[in-house]
Amino acid sequence: MVILGKLGDHVWLESLSNSEFSVPIGAVVKISDSGQILVEDDEGKEHWITARNINAVHPMHPTSAQGVEDMIRLGDLNEAGIVHNLLIRHQEHKIYTYTGSILVAVNPYQVLPLYTVEQIQLYSNKRIGELPPHVFAIADNCYFNMKRNKRDQCCVISGESGAGKTESTKLILQFLAAISGQHSWIEQQILEANPILEAFGNAKTIRNDNSSRFGKYIDIHFNRSSVIEGARIEQFLLEKSRVCRQALEERNYHIFYCMLMGMNLEQKKMLNLGTASEYTYLTMGDCTSCDGRNDAKEYAHVRSAMKVLMFSDSEHWDISKLLAAILHLGNVFPSSQAMSTSKILQRCLTNHSIIIRGESVSMPLSVAQAADGRDAFVKGIYGHLFLWIVNKINAAIFNPPSQDSKSLRRSIGLLDIFGFENFNTNSFEQLCINFANEHLQQFFVRHVFKLEQEEYLAEHISWSHIDFTDNHQALEVIALKPMNIVSLIDEESKFPKGTDTTLLNKINSHHGKSKVYIPPRSVHDTKFGINHFAGIVYYQSKGFLEKNRDMLSSNIMQLVYSSKNKFLRQIFQVETTGSDTTKRLSTLGGQFKQSLEQLMKILGSCQPYFIRCIKPNDYKKPLLFDRELCIRQLRYSGMMETIRIRKAGYPMRYSFAEFFERYRVLLPMSAREQDDARRCCIYISEVILGKDEDWKIGRTKIFLKDYHDMVLEVQRDKAL
Ligand code: ADP
Ligand code: MG
Repeated sequence: MVILGKLGDHVWLESLSNSEFSVPIGAVVKISDSGQILVEDDEGKEHWITARNINAVHPMHPTSAQGVEDMIRLGDLNEAGIVHNLLIRHQEHKIYTYTGSILVAVNPYQVLPLYTVEQIQLYSNKRIGELPPHVFAIADNCYFNMKRNKRDQCCVISGESGAGKTESTKLILQFLAAISGQHSWIEQQILEANPILEAFGNAKTIRNDNSSRFGKYIDIHFNRSSVIEGARIEQFLLEKSRVCRQALEERNYHIFYCMLMGMNLEQKKMLNLGTASEYTYLTMGDCTSCDGRNDAKEYAHVRSAMKVLMFSDSEHWDISKLLAAILHLGNVFPSSQAMSTSKILQRCLTNHSIIIRGESVSMPLSVAQAADGRDAFVKGIYGHLFLWIVNKINAAIFNPPSQDSKSLRRSIGLLDIFGFENFNTNSFEQLCINFANEHLQQFFVRHVFKLEQEEYLAEHISWSHIDFTDNHQALEVIALKPMNIVSLIDEESKFPKGTDTTLLNKINSHHGKSKVYIPPRSVHDTKFGINHFAGIVYYQSKGFLEKNRDMLSSNIMQLVYSSKNKFLRQIFQVETTGSDTTKRLSTLGGQFKQSLEQLMKILGSCQPYFIRCIKPNDYKKPLLFDRELCIRQLRYSGMMETIRIRKAGYPMRYSFAEFFERYRVLLPMSAREQDDARRCCIYISEVILGKDEDWKIGRTKIFLKDYHDMVLEVQRDKAL
């Protein structure tokens, strides 16, 4: 019984389950009245320890027992230690934990008093590590580093649906507006863009009551005095299919329900609108309300936000008309006999024109084909409307820099993009989403592992290589190699005789032997698999080409162009007026790939911060921590390796000149004018950080731990 220790001791209890996500659980020793040993685990379950299972118990390192704010300080540096640390902190409402300067945020699913004005003041102008971990600390450091290093910064916020990405993004934005703005109109406008985007781009899903169905990158611009002067929002891949179809217990986009609850009766009458339950497009999920949301109040908020962002009343009315038209279209049964709408619309939706020997011939469509055509039309309208709205918002908040202020403008970008998806059925959309996540993971891997280790080598820093899982191969097969999957889909989409089957055959013949590709099981199987960094996903190839082409029939396009509704014609022109005229000709996958590559270029030019959001349970419940669910998320985000490299590595580095320039104030007056920067760096570090501390001198740079940076900055503040 030696290893069990005494009453109250913390131990690890090996898992009895053989699930791939089970790891030892923390437990506390209790002694029962009869003198037998009992331990109570982190989930409150009691276990008798007998001679038979005594080997399943191991002592716990004191750091794990108490919990740590920065996981690189964990004595038990393994999955059990990490998940236990997050668990005990979560129980105490400490939802934020660092791994060096990477922030792990566990969704609390309750409102915590962490985001008050006092907290904003508290965290402003502090270094990471001075105060308990917080998303505000990350925001403050982005801002500080932007000023200090005169470099653009970005924050990549990742996690699965419902993990808290969008909330974190909003908190960072609020913090930046509060500390760097001048309480002016522009910050107000940037903040109010969110309610509009969320009304049109978010919806209730089974995973999240306010799930973003599009990705976004918000770039916040600062002038030479580091005051906010504008922003630009880039959107990615709105889920258009939701406008026509929702899974059980899910809703359409919030705006429809908001409009029906919040619009005044007179306007509703003009648009001939009733209640949500009357519309096919709003009831497919058998769910029209959402607990905890007040659609009428949200509508008022969206209305006022639109005013702040310069949407005119007539523009708002135009939008309302289109939304109403969508709802009405969803209710028409598009057979040529039963339609009670306009003649032209009826003809376009129930017929199909083809050119035969130079003449246009009209053929009737089946009811199912007509319904598909109608849905495609509606998706087209909503997709273009969304793009128009984003452009409209950008027109209000984006100030193009003048020629001479261009080089002085700095920015902080916030990336809030859909997390990795793996459903029962995965289609083209999931391929795009997971492709984006592969890119982001590669960005993370490159930044945290590859570049880091290359630099140690170049600077002659003694270093033993840390193995990490590189997802480069998956990315190559999806989008980088010649004949990659995305380009094959594109090629086949443009090929008149291309079908989903010919596509699958081509993918097989080019990638059949790749380690990351899993071919269909038989000639009849239409699913193929990809071994992503976050696990294997099987994709249903049926429908790929049509989704990628993303085209409306010529009949419908003619209907749009000849419409009397000027706004409808206008939103369909959005694409063609974009700066990039090739975009219009391109496919959905092609466009997505292009905008992702553009994004990666921007991120690559920034100093990045990472926030890993973790969803603690699938029930949107506070204080419920599902260990296996969390382990899965930690594992596929590479958190283990990240902690190892952050612990072993030196994430902060300065050239000798930079370091000397910044910290010479820490030297006695007489020593401040030294001309050997290297010697001075060593001297400062020895005095301020300590000779025995783990900092390193390279060939051209000094390498520090994150906390060294904090110590130096605090001392510098005192000295100034
Ligand atoms: P994601 O964007 O990752 O899908 P969200 O940011 O929309 O997830 O978060 C989902 C829900 O979780 C929010 O609507 C909110 O109820 C809750 N939530 C997330 N982060 C927090 C937080 N920091 N404090 C309180 N609740 C939160
Ligand atoms: Mg979101």
